[in-house]
Amino acid sequence: MLSLNQALEEMLGQLPAPSSTETLPLNQCANRILAEDIFSPIDVPSFDNSAMDGYALRFEDLEQFADFRVIGKSFAGNPFTGQIQAGECVRIMTGAMIPAGADVVIMQEQAETVADDRIRFNVQPKLGANIRRVGEDVKQGALVLAKGSKLNVASLPLLASLGIAHVSVFSRLKVAILSTGDELTSVGEPLEAGKIYDTNRFTVRLLLEKLNCEILDYGILSDDPALFEKTFSEAQAASDVLITSGGVSVGEADFTKTVLEKLGKVNFWKIAMKPGKPFAFGQLGKTWFFGLPGNPVSALVTFYQLVQPALAKLSGLNAQGIANLTTNLTACAATNLKKAVGRQDFQRGFYYLDEQGNLMVKAVGMQGSHIFSAFYESNCFIVLEAKRGNVAAGEKVTIQPFNALLS
Ligand code: AMP
Ligand code: MG
Repeated sequence: MLSLNQALEEMLGQLPAPSSTETLPLNQCANRILAEDIFSPIDVPSFDNSAMDGYALRFEDLEQFADFRVIGKSFAGNPFTGQIQAGECVRIMTGAMIPAGADVVIMQEQAETVADDRIRFNVQPKLGANIRRVGEDVKQGALVLAKGSKLNVASLPLLASLGIAHVSVFSRLKVAILSTGDELTSVGEPLEAGKIYDTNRFTVRLLLEKLNCEILDYGILSDDPALFEKTFSEAQAASDVLITSGGVSVGEADFTKTVLEKLGKVNFWKIAMKPGKPFAFGQLGKTWFFGLPGNPVSALVTFYQLVQPALAKLSGLNAQGIANLTTNLTACAATNLKKAVGRQDFQRGFYYLDEQGNLMVKAVGMQGSHIFSAFYESNCFIVLEAKRGNVAAGEKVTIQPFNALLS
């Protein structure tokens, strides 16, 4: 069996970054991946401006003059256009352009009116005080966002502030989905004896919508190898990625592996993780194939741990972005945790700070790979090393808070 890390390394090593791009207006770029480096076309701020409401003046005059003549006003968007001379100052507002000649701003709370148009200052400021300098935030020509960055609420406003109206992004992935199993019934249809509802296709669709993929739904396949062949071929012709669930174990009705071997290239993997041992990764021509296990919890956990980074790579997210998909923290187990030596566990947990401020985690519900309800009450995976056995309350464990995909 492979460890999850070995499987990830091998998989990410094989998957290419995308080649197809499109240019879109900024307001259509949410959750897209940038396909070019962005360099700033301007300095930000683009002019020296005031950080305070106050008075702009010449720093050197403070030694010679006891008070100053106010010769005009500079507002944000409406600058004072004259030149400040010795003994003069300009009333200035936050964000307004610094008038020519001025090299310091004194805040209004440190100024005192001595006559109609005369002001005295009760402070000895430093040269340049309260002035936001041109290019202090972003220099013209500086790299602002690297190719492969995700465009979101943290990055898109930055581009807007630079006046960038269009950017080149990678094309969305076309992802085909299907479930396999004679026992499956689509949600919304009546349930016959011995049948169950198809949870996985519903789950995978939700996940792919969050990941901004185009979805092609091939429905439920009964356990019939001829039907698998026909549908896999159709999906291959129409999509960049095919994600299936079920039929990847070694039961008599598990045809995913044999059909894949016949039509394409297969890496059929038993991964030393729990839940989620059977997982297929391969290629049907140019289409990448991910075969999730049938158990709904296993399907979700393997999607999260394996398919999420794989799709990120195929979507063009850079290595830093892929590494940042998950964060590991150390917490203290608040309860005993059942764990068998041999596989790496991804138990569903709930983390919180106790009254002393310690990061704690407790197991949530039953941990069986058919128990989906535990997800609902959890906010993290408790990641337990393969060689570890039962964990006693009080021991340190690794937790992985759920990212936006699971929240
Ligand atoms: P399999 O790997 O096909 O033997 O499936 C393993 C288990 O997961 C069986 O109990 C299946 O009934 C169940 N299962 C498979 N696919 C789904 C699905 N799409 N939704 C819910 N349960 C499933
Ligand atoms: Mg099956």
